[in-house]
Amino acid sequence: MTNFLQPDDLTFDREHIWHPYTSFREPLPVYPVAAAEGCELILDDGRRLIDGMSSWWAAIHGYNHPRLNQAAHSQIDHMSHVMFGGVTHKPAIDLCRRLVELSPAPLQRVFLADSGSVSVEIAIKMAVQYWAAREQPNKNRIATVRGGYHGDTFAAMSVCDPVNGMHALFQGSLRQQLFAPVPDVRPQDEWDPQALEPMRELLEQNHHEVAAVIVEPVVQGAGGMRFYHPEYLRGLRALCDQFDVLLIADEIATGFGRTGALFACNHADISPDIMCLGKALTGGYLTMAAVLATSDLADTISAGPAGGTFMHGPTFMANPLACAIANASIGLIMTGDWQEQVATIARQLAAELEPARGLLSVADVRTYGAIGVIEMKQPVNVAKLQQRFVELGVWIRPFGRLIYVMPPYIITPGQLTQITQAMCKAAEEA
Ligand code: PMP
Repeated sequence: MTNFLQPDDLTFDREHIWHPYTSFREPLPVYPVAAAEGCELILDDGRRLIDGMSSWWAAIHGYNHPRLNQAAHSQIDHMSHVMFGGVTHKPAIDLCRRLVELSPAPLQRVFLADSGSVSVEIAIKMAVQYWAAREQPNKNRIATVRGGYHGDTFAAMSVCDPVNGMHALFQGSLRQQLFAPVPDVRPQDEWDPQALEPMRELLEQNHHEVAAVIVEPVVQGAGGMRFYHPEYLRGLRALCDQFDVLLIADEIATGFGRTGALFACNHADISPDIMCLGKALTGGYLTMAAVLATSDLADTISAGPAGGTFMHGPTFMANPLACAIANASIGLIMTGDWQEQVATIARQLAAELEPARGLLSVADVRTYGAIGVIEMKQPVNVAKLQQRFVELGVWIRPFGRLIYVMPPYIITPGQLTQITQAMCKAAEEA
């Protein structure tokens, strides 16, 4: 077995393998990756690309990290997986202990899940089961803001942006949820309490049927790469308390330092009732997510119907291999200088993307923490642009009108400059 492709492999790939968000009829091109190391993807033909994507926000420490590799090797010699029903193990206990320590204090109970989308399903299920236990089963809808993204499973899709999400395609299969407008006060703008008014009205009118509000705190990711004022989040927490609605923070993209705080909720100094973590949880090595909840929520569910059982239990729950790597990744976070790294990336992205603002083709340039975005006026040609980026020696995958990056925290200033130059060049050529 080798990582290198054989002559007919790409043909097989094209004819038989589904890639994300593309069709078999006109598939977007794929680039064979043979290895990845540090902040680089190494293509089959030996070309090295500087990674601007962290494999969709996950590989925060870079690839092939010796500490994460070592954690994987030593865990696999004990056991790769055992069921979690009727069983427990050290990697899971260590991980949950760390998550409880690091997350906002009220979050004391942890459910380990297999992926971000599944964790959102679990969070929604918890919220609905909580109100059933409080004998208010009519509180079973979810409120959110437009412009969000929470995953591709059905409950998660129902709270994605109704226009750029998949609502039209799955109309009839999706629960109709409640949407307030996009929070449109930027973090650098003066806070305007009016921004919360539509959400306040929505909750005032509908709280009797709303189980929870779900949002991505401060950074809306795949729904449009928008950043909003932390005061919105603080105000939202207060509204949820006022109207007796739970708050779910989807920190799947933002958790573990990406925005400059360990969790984006920290910018607003709030604690949600439920928090979803994923992506960077395992440093991008394996699929795993965690749902953290307050003791009140867990105890209420436990005193409710179904014998107090929380009705979920995936086959690969608490996979020991993923837990061991997550422990090593969190260890790197706790002992490393991620804060300085993220702050340095943030300064450099802001300075080096600024020139793109003057380009005719560019609608907006924005950065927050280790996230940099050039929003174009027109949708980009993904295939063409991707090819151009590969020619320029960088790995960036745009979508819609957005050319954006969130590189591994270990990226060097020289590597980051290559990325920002490629972004500006692509925007200029468009
Ligand atoms: N929530 C957010 C905020 C995300 O960014 C994503 C993934 N892009 C998800 C949920 C879904 O996670 P997964 O792809 O692991 O199912």
